[in-house]
Amino acid sequence: MTTRTRTNPNATGPAPGDAPAEKVYWCELAWLNGTVEPQVVLEVTGQGRLGAIRTAVGTPPPGATVLRGLTLPGLANAHSHAFHRALRGTVQVGSGTFWTWRDSMYQTAARLTPDSYYTLARAVYAEMALAGITCVGEFHYLHHGPGGERYDDPNAMSHALVAAAADAGIRITLLDTAYLASGIGRKGRGEAPTRQQLRFSDGTAQAWAERVSAFRPQGDHVRTGAAVHSVRAVPARELGTVAQWAEERGAPLHVHLSEQTAENEACLGVHGMTPTALLAEHGVLTPRTTAVHATHLDKDDIRRIGRSGTGVCMCPTTERDLADGIGPAPALDRAGAALSLGSDSHAVIDLFEEARALELDERLASRTRGHWTAGQLLRAATEGGHTALGWPESSRLETGALADFTTVGLDSVRTAGPVPRLAAEVAVFAATAADVRHTVVGGRHIVRDGAHTLVDDVPGALAHAIAALRP
Ligand SMILES: [Zn+2]
Repeated sequence: MTTRTRTNPNATGPAPGDAPAEKVYWCELAWLNGTVEPQVVLEVTGQGRLGAIRTAVGTPPPGATVLRGLTLPGLANAHSHAFHRALRGTVQVGSGTFWTWRDSMYQTAARLTPDSYYTLARAVYAEMALAGITCVGEFHYLHHGPGGERYDDPNAMSHALVAAAADAGIRITLLDTAYLASGIGRKGRGEAPTRQQLRFSDGTAQAWAERVSAFRPQGDHVRTGAAVHSVRAVPARELGTVAQWAEERGAPLHVHLSEQTAENEACLGVHGMTPTALLAEHGVLTPRTTAVHATHLDKDDIRRIGRSGTGVCMCPTTERDLADGIGPAPALDRAGAALSLGSDSHAVIDLFEEARALELDERLASRTRGHWTAGQLLRAATEGGHTALGWPESSRLETGALADFTTVGLDSVRTAGPVPRLAAEVAVFAATAADVRHTVVGGRHIVRDGAHTLVDDVPGALAHAIAALRP
C-alpha cells in the first residue's frame, strides 16, 4: 500500500521529542511501526506531543494512566458531511437511488442555521471521538442562508463547524468546498444552481476564493483546505481557480470523483473526456489532492491518478448504502494512489467497518482473499487519512508526533479470545466503534473508559439536535 510523503507546510512549532513528560500513559498493547508491542509507555509533553516511547515496561510507572487493549494512532475520518448524520435511518425506508437520497439531503440542509448546525456537528464529532476518531475532514459546502443570502459573517457556517470540533475535542480540516452549478450543462458552462443549491453557491470560483481567504479560524485544532464538490458542481473553466488557491497555500484539495456513472456520461458528452481527465487538465490532480470515491474509473483514469500522486479516499459504507458500486481500490493502490477512509454520509460512523469493508467488498467482487493486511488497512485509517487532511504529524505513534491516539478494548464479546499478536487483525476484522475505550487528542483524554469527557450525553445530544431539524 502506497504512503504519501508526510510533509506539511501548514505545520507550526517544533517537535519537542525531548521535552519533559507532563502525562504518562501505559498501554497494554500498542501498534508501533506496524507491529503490536506489549507494555508500552507513551510520554506526552506539555505541547501535546509524544515524548519518549518505551516498550516492554512490565509495570505501569507511578501516576501513569493505564490503557487496556490495543492503542493505535488516532483514526482520521478523511471525508465527512456532518449534517448527513440527521438522515440516518430515515433514508432506509423504501427503495430509491443516490438521486432520491440527495433530495432528502437537500431538505435537511434547508433547515440548518449556524446555531443548529453547531449543535448537530458537536454531537456528530462527539460520536466520532467515541469511535476513536481524532481528526475529521469536513467537506463543507453549506455556506449561505436559505435562498443564498449571505450571513453577516459569510463564513458563519464554517466557524460553527470549527467550534463544534473544538467542543467535541477533535481536530478538523475544514475543506471549504466550491459548489457553483447543478450540472455540467451545455458547452460545459454549468447549469444554474437550483433554489435548494443556492445555499451552497458563491456564484463564481473567484467569489468562493475571496470568501475562503477571509476565513481565519482560531485554535490549534483546525487547519483549512479546499474542495471541488465535483465536475458536476464546478464548471471546467472555474476548476483552475480552486486548484490555484490550494496550490498557493500548500493546502489539501479534495474532490468527489466519479461516484456515479451519470457523472461520467455527462462529462464525456460535453467535454469528450472523463471527470478524471478533466480534473487533470485543469491542475486539480496533485500530490496534495484526494479524490473521494473514485468508483467508476477506466484504466487511463487510474494511471493518471497514480502518476499525479493523488490519493483516494474510499467511503465503503456510504458507497454500499447508496448503491454506488465498488471502486477499483486494488488497482489504484498498485498505481501508487495512497488510500484513506471516510464515513461520508454517516450511515454509520465506524472506521473499523470502513477498513474491513475495503477488503471484504473486494473479496466479494473478486472471489479471492488477502488484498490487504490488517496493518495496511489500519494505515489507511490512520496515516493515510492524516496525510490527506494535512496533519501528517498525527500519523504514527512516534516521538515528536502529536499525541493523538485511541485504544480498542480486547475484552468485549466481539474482541475477546485471540492471542495478543493478532490484536491488529481483531481490531480491523471484528471490533466496532463500540469497542473504543479511550481517545486522546493532543494529550487530552477526550474519551475515558468509553465515556466522552466534554459532552455528557452524546446520544441525547444527537437526538436533540436531529429532532430540532424535523419538519
Ligand atoms: Zn461526500
